[in-house]
Amino acid sequence: PSSISIKELSELLGIKVNDILKFLLSHGISSNINSNVDFETATMIGAKYNIEVILEEQQDIESIYLTEEPDREDQMEPRPPIVTVMGHVDHGKTTLLDAIRKTNVTSSEAGGITQHIGAYTVELNNRKIVFIDTPGHEAFTAMRARGAQITDIVILVVAADDGVMPQTIEAINHAKAANVPIIVAVNKIDKPNANAERVKQELSEYGLIPEEWGGDTIFVPVSALRKQGINELLEMILLLSDLLELKANPNKRASGVVIESRLDKGMGSVATVLVQSGTLKVGDIVISGTSFGRVRALIDDKGRRVKKATPSIPVSVLGLSEVPNVGDKFYVVPDEKIAKAISDYRKDRLRQQQYNNINKLSFDQLFNQI
Ligand code: GDP
Ligand code: MG
Repeated sequence: PSSISIKELSELLGIKVNDILKFLLSHGISSNINSNVDFETATMIGAKYNIEVILEEQQDIESIYLTEEPDREDQMEPRPPIVTVMGHVDHGKTTLLDAIRKTNVTSSEAGGITQHIGAYTVELNNRKIVFIDTPGHEAFTAMRARGAQITDIVILVVAADDGVMPQTIEAINHAKAANVPIIVAVNKIDKPNANAERVKQELSEYGLIPEEWGGDTIFVPVSALRKQGINELLEMILLLSDLLELKANPNKRASGVVIESRLDKGMGSVATVLVQSGTLKVGDIVISGTSFGRVRALIDDKGRRVKKATPSIPVSVLGLSEVPNVGDKFYVVPDEKIAKAISDYRKDRLRQQQYNNINKLSFDQLFNQI
């Protein structure tokens, strides 16, 4: 990938050419003043003299192509809300996600085989809502740990026969820490021992106060099992997203987050992404972590091949060189050379980090032996 001549390295580091040549020879590498060394070797030489070697040129490539210019207000267009369902175990997250998916299948989609791609879209009044269908904290916290904030609204599922439980409180804390508004779905209202008032009472203690008590939290009674209250819940999501004024610029190169990824025997690397900005198209060059490539195909949550994905819309991307990490950002760049240069730079950086770790380890081991 990246290399530098010994002459140049000597000038940059202020180390005599002869000292570098001797050092290399002591590692079994014979070279001369005009030989090129790779980044890893340059790092090794630097480390001997306590100089940290970093790649300046490639860092520029990364910052030039991956820095997003702020959009003007007139470029922004409304985008669908991205919703995550959270709540205590057995309170009905999976059942609710299922009910939502099934009650809102438009006729054009009927009969289509729904694919599990980590997220799905439903439509109400010609407006889309996107659900992350990996319920629970894992997805949410894994994303947040990588600095990816994708959720606009949290649906907090609380079973009306059970009330507030430890994971209910955990979910509230996660949502608050991420500054994501909560809609409460009071579930299992079909049960004879359901007590929605108690749920309201208990949640008020955590600052989630219903509108009828002078607060601003939306509570929707539902039965995920009997598919009751689902449309009301969706309507409330749309109402809240209007208040949030969710917008993005669809008319630029896309960027977003990887929410699922796997290696498929036939298709190779399959990455589900959520577009956060711009429009992702077949034929675009994508970089995510060290993985890159030309988008060979885009597949939506109904298993259909699509040509593009606009902001908030989840799609599976085929054509990447490796399986990218969940939570990593992805970017569309102008051409494949740039994508490769960024990938090489990142690989070098990873190698350097590994090298530094090994160095540190052997140093510590040495220290312990003394
Ligand atoms: P999760 O752990 O939060 O994903 O909960 P599940 O969706 O797996 O539901 C746990 C149990 O509660 C299952 O046996 C569901 O059938 C049941 N359940 C979920 N929603 C309702 C509901 O609205 N009413 C009733 N009676 N049972 C429900
Ligand atoms: Mg579940």
